[in-house]
Amino acid sequence: MRTFAKQPRPAWMTAVAAEGPLTGKEQARAVFDSLDKPKLRLIAVAEQRGLCAFCMGRIRADGDGASAIRLAHRVPISTDPTLALTWTNLVASCSSPHSCDERQGSHCLTVDPVLPATTVDQLRYERRAGKEGLWLVSDDPVLANDLEKLGLNDGDLPRLREEAWKAFQVRARARHPKGNAEGRKKLLAAETKDMPLRPYFGVLQAKA
Ligand SMILES: [Zn+2]
Repeated sequence: MRTFAKQPRPAWMTAVAAEGPLTGKEQARAVFDSLDKPKLRLIAVAEQRGLCAFCMGRIRADGDGASAIRLAHRVPISTDPTLALTWTNLVASCSSPHSCDERQGSHCLTVDPVLPATTVDQLRYERRAGKEGLWLVSDDPVLANDLEKLGLNDGDLPRLREEAWKAFQVRARARHPKGNAEGRKKLLAAETKDMPLRPYFGVLQAKA
């Protein structure tokens, strides 16, 4: 997971929010579902530079079927309907193959990738004896539970993070032959400007 900044809420969404209070989960869901979702996806994917808010896998606003992205509420509508149209509560999530949004389900997340945030600072990547991969962990039990719910150490994710980190080191050595921390920082600064960002970019930010 990596932090990112949200732009101001789109004015047309604010106009919808001004039409009346969100009074219950069914009404809030109906209002949310009435929004122009393709437009919201475009904005959210751009804010997140093409990465799922949770697993940092590649997402594309124009994906369809299995590759369609989801708009996820960090605090679900079922938990707090008044946050259904709150822009900082809304992030773009992958739908396949991992599907962070489906895994989140109705779980209310404490971990928050949106800046300003302090929760992502309490996550770290670690290796496990005899295994290939980088596991995302936290000493805070509430945050660790969020990672568990989102399945962020399931399937190929630890291995994919390790591969992203190794590939970054290869690129850093090719560009800055000393292969030292300074070279990695320079490459990281250059790649931070990429649009979209490379998948699992938060791993590189945490380790470079
Ligand atoms: Zn994801």
